[in-house]
Amino acid sequence: MSLVEGLIRELQRLPGVGPKSARRMAFHLLVRDRDGARQLASIVSEAADRVGHCSLCRNLTEHEVCDTCASAERDGGQLCVVESAADVQAIESAAEYRGRYFVLMGHFSPLDGIGPEELGMDQLEARLDSGEVKELILATNATLEGNVTAQYIAGLAEPRGISVTRIAHGVPMGGELEFVDGQTLRTAFNSRRGLE
Ligand code: ZN
Repeated sequence: MSLVEGLIRELQRLPGVGPKSARRMAFHLLVRDRDGARQLASIVSEAADRVGHCSLCRNLTEHEVCDTCASAERDGGQLCVVESAADVQAIESAAEYRGRYFVLMGHFSPLDGIGPEELGMDQLEARLDSGEVKELILATNATLEGNVTAQYIAGLAEPRGISVTRIAHGVPMGGELEFVDGQTLRTAFNSRRGLE
């Protein structure tokens, strides 16, 4: 396989990129932007080597503790549970949230072997036991798996006397947080309510 073909094949690892877009990207990099191609290659390689998970919230970071967890300006009394790093970004840009996060890096999916251990439930329970968290905000996706995950986590918080809220999804059923527009997400976040 030629290098050009190899590049086109590797670009298709990216979500939503099929053969046609991969070809367009490869030609763009090789024909129009060689410097950009080198920079892209070098940051992808460095990030792949150095980025790990924050020891407190599991979000992606090259540090032991991420910037959000390290910031003294964030309110440790509120902990927002999301499925992905992209969801943190979506909430940060849409809602005026000043609390902290816990990133599951997925949702319950027994068929794929994703259960409490893979989602860091031990870590989350330790966080809840620390006594710092007063409100646990469940911001998992409005999908079947997201709801099951939210119910499970609510079950961890309630016996500990921690108030649990679920963000209201003006989001359509099946909606994934990261694809919801900012206004809808802000409204959903602000009108979160307790679980019945
Ligand atoms: Zn963190």
